[in-house]
Amino acid sequence: MNKFEQLGLSESLLRAILDLGFENPTEVQEKAIPLLLEKDTDMVALAQTGTGKTAAFGFPLIQKIDANNRNTQALILSPTRELCLQITNEIKNYSKYEKGINVVAVYGGASITDQARDIKRGAQIIVATPGRMQDMINRGLVNISQINYCILDEADEMLNMGFYEDIVNILSTSPDEKSTWLFSATMPQEVARIAKQFMHDPLEITVGAKNSGSATVSHEFYLVNARDRYEALKRLADANPDIFSVVFCRTKRDTQQVAEKLIEDGYSAAALHGDLSQAQRDSVMKSFRGRQIQMLVATDVAARGIDVDNITHVVNYQLPDEIETYNHRSGRTGRAGKLGTSIVIVTKSEIRKISAIERIIKQKFEEKTIPSGIEICEIQLLHLANKIKDTEVDHEIDTYLPAITSVLEDLSKEELIKKMVSVEFNRFINYYKKTRDLSSQSAGSDRRESSDREPRESNGSAVRYFVNIGSRDNFDWMSLKDFLKETLDLGRDDVYKVDVKEGFSFFNTDPEHTDKVMDVLNNIQLEGRRINVEISKNDGGGRRDHNGRSSGGSFGGGRSSAPRREGNFAPRKEGGFRSDRSSAPREGGFAPRTGSPRREGGFSSDRPARRADAPRTEGFAERAPRRSESFGDSKPKRPRKS
Ligand code: AMP
Repeated sequence: MNKFEQLGLSESLLRAILDLGFENPTEVQEKAIPLLLEKDTDMVALAQTGTGKTAAFGFPLIQKIDANNRNTQALILSPTRELCLQITNEIKNYSKYEKGINVVAVYGGASITDQARDIKRGAQIIVATPGRMQDMINRGLVNISQINYCILDEADEMLNMGFYEDIVNILSTSPDEKSTWLFSATMPQEVARIAKQFMHDPLEITVGAKNSGSATVSHEFYLVNARDRYEALKRLADANPDIFSVVFCRTKRDTQQVAEKLIEDGYSAAALHGDLSQAQRDSVMKSFRGRQIQMLVATDVAARGIDVDNITHVVNYQLPDEIETYNHRSGRTGRAGKLGTSIVIVTKSEIRKISAIERIIKQKFEEKTIPSGIEICEIQLLHLANKIKDTEVDHEIDTYLPAITSVLEDLSKEELIKKMVSVEFNRFINYYKKTRDLSSQSAGSDRRESSDREPRESNGSAVRYFVNIGSRDNFDWMSLKDFLKETLDLGRDDVYKVDVKEGFSFFNTDPEHTDKVMDVLNNIQLEGRRINVEISKNDGGGRRDHNGRSSGGSFGGGRSSAPRREGNFAPRKEGGFRSDRSSAPREGGFAPRTGSPRREGGFSSDRPARRADAPRTEGFAERAPRRSESFGDSKPKRPRKS
């Protein structure tokens, strides 16, 4: 008897489980299934995504549904359309040998009348997002007054997304006697309130420690200078040739730009953010699932509910504003018992966040250094050799062998190996032999320093700058300060008195940073527009506060003597913000700042083959809305501490 049989599952479910290739139940399945099968009960299960919870509620639900009765008997609420469709598919797979069970997915952005019609045809199980479900109830398109089971999946996420009222309304419409099964990774107060209000003596199960990260995920951070962030990302990708990852950025704009740069540099990447249409997002996700994309660059909101197995790495290109979000990010890897790695690329000014995250996930980070060029070359070389060894030979090649042999016959075995490997390897070695070490100093002292350090007081000789970017570029003082700190690799308090106007802004630094400010900022572009910075005649006056906030009024209602630098705006190039310093010849219209070993299809054998009908990865970035649209969420929605 295998372990699934011991849980008391029916013959038809066991057959489906065999087809799915599940060998042993996961912890949440082992704990939940027997309890839910045994009696009708409410249950609160604390389990992260990826622990197998869909089957933990799906198997008992299917077994309990009366397939001969075509009324709606169960409602599963999930936070996103993506997750809703996934659950629907899983339930269909699990119930494939169970005659007569119908499942319908109900979510926004698709025809509500089609969904209502599908339900009317006799769906015993509805999987829905709360907003659309509430809409259907209001319009009388669905009747949940007879349901026996209600499942709240990822309850914390649903409440995070503002569905509290919808959930309360939906639960109030359903019968009191039903069983409610609530699954949540965490137990914030609002979730506890729902459990208290709508559940009767729920059984509680917990998988792993509460609020802790998955035991199968290891956490690493790499300390780099802010200007090296992107280069570090590329090196991490090159050092992990089989990487299959979600790369998280903080804003839609950064997401779009990082994806574009990766694509330009020859990586198989795509952007996923809220400015893409639903069809574009679906297309990106389809390619990601099909592994035609190795690096999915995403915002937190767009990546909610991504439920793709075998993600090897989560990369925090930037840490989230709310450190609690880190847990949701890292939960995208290490699923279903597989091992995964969550990587943080961090600068000195953010290093204190690492300790705060460690407290939340109750796991330690390992500090690592960005691999050197030589290390990457070694990794790639071995990867290539293994790939050659494992390549299956298509015997079609036999036809061409005499001709090939005659070309190569004078080469010894050793020469042949060297030359074969060099075909691909030269590009990497040529690229990396010229590159410098990226590691910033060790974080040990910085982790203490930055958390203990008092903000410095200005010494009164601040330098005030004028810069030709402003609110028109969707900056406010906080995001501009962040941008300047990162771009200039300055500390938390080194940029202050940031004052943002429509087409331009002012900020201060202490004099020792002036050369860097002038040199770095005058040599980069923002969305194809050259940034221009000048020392302002207006010294800004006054003392700064610790937030770098202007005390106001210094600039006569935003007018400055500094001219608007519109004459300096270079025609927009493809791709966003990049250094202009490269003298590298442009290829295909793009000039990656430091070039890339991947360019020109280098190591293309690493990349997953594109299906002939598959959309080209490059296309996602090109089709994506640019500039004004993708600037969308760079503006913080609520005040943030500096
Ligand atoms: P979930 O937490 O339900 O999103 O599941 C995560 C992934 O684990 C899904 O792709 C499931 O198909 C898979 N899975 C669920 N249960 C098992 C199991 N017992 N053995 C192997 N994989 C599983």
